Amino acid sequence: MPAVLGFEGSANKIGVGVVRDGKVLANPRRTYVTPPGTGFLPGDTARHHRAVILDLLQEALTESGLTSQDIDCIAYTKGPGMGAPLVSVALVARTVAQLWNKPLVGVNHCIGHIEMGRLITGATSPTVLYVSGGNTQVIAYSEHRYRIFGETIDIAVGNCLDRFARVLKISNDPSPGYNIEQMAKRGKKLVELPYTVKGMDVSFSGILSFIEDVAHRMLATGECTPEDLCFSLQETVFAMLVEITERAMAHCDSQEALIVGGVGCNVRLQEMMATMCQERGARLFATDERFCIDNGAMIAQAGWEMFQAGHRTPLSDSGVTQRYRTDEVEVTWRD
Ligand code: MG
Repeated sequence: MPAVLGFEGSANKIGVGVVRDGKVLANPRRTYVTPPGTGFLPGDTARHHRAVILDLLQEALTESGLTSQDIDCIAYTKGPGMGAPLVSVALVARTVAQLWNKPLVGVNHCIGHIEMGRLITGATSPTVLYVSGGNTQVIAYSEHRYRIFGETIDIAVGNCLDRFARVLKISNDPSPGYNIEQMAKRGKKLVELPYTVKGMDVSFSGILSFIEDVAHRMLATGECTPEDLCFSLQETVFAMLVEITERAMAHCDSQEALIVGGVGCNVRLQEMMATMCQERGARLFATDERFCIDNGAMIAQAGWEMFQAGHRTPLSDSGVTQRYRTDEVEVTWRD
């Protein structure tokens, strides 16, 4: 019964998780939160992660009830993500692997999300909507690859939401997206925004520019409230995501949809996806914030699958990469 320890730190969350044969034994996490109106910069984020990673490692071991001897493999996020945080976390993973004399496995962050979603929900072969601050992709498995059917051609949907939150100085605690979601519930008026689906792909940068442009004027003249803007932005960008997911499901004749990534815990997005799935006679799977927001266990779980399938990352290849596409990895652990 192999146990895998996973390190994640590709953006502003740092997590260390332990997974043994489909059971999450520990999954502590910390978030680097910046003041309203600001985002997180790579250097500061890496400094935050370095300051807490050893405490998290200790916490994960204590919580799991395991010692270093019980761990069979060390998994870490190889990419994609922000350079400085990735490097800091990989360095710790590499050091721990050498100190404890354990094999190392470098994991694609997006695949971590997918494998965690499959484990937690029991979805067997879903069409995956992966939505977060750094990524927006519609993915389906075929012939040993997680293939990308559609994606953003500029910024991620979560980045669009985060940057809109900065315009309105909405708090980043616990996350800008969560606070937008709460405000959107009180929105009444739908402000028309650009709707940019291009074939199977989506674009968010023009919507962001548009709303950045009109927000202060519309709020000053009382044409709408901040809550209306939150509501309108969510309704518009989520409708775009539902549209491309539905098209991919139709293409793949898929009966299951799975939402992963930090934006995936937005209940309004889940509702809209559920309606689409219902109309197609398909099932929607989603997880809560423990598992859809970046965490260590998702890297441990993908690492566990890879370790079982014989993957090992030699020290000489244990670096990180900011760009690492989901479809670059050969998925040898699935039929
Ligand atoms: Mg992520």
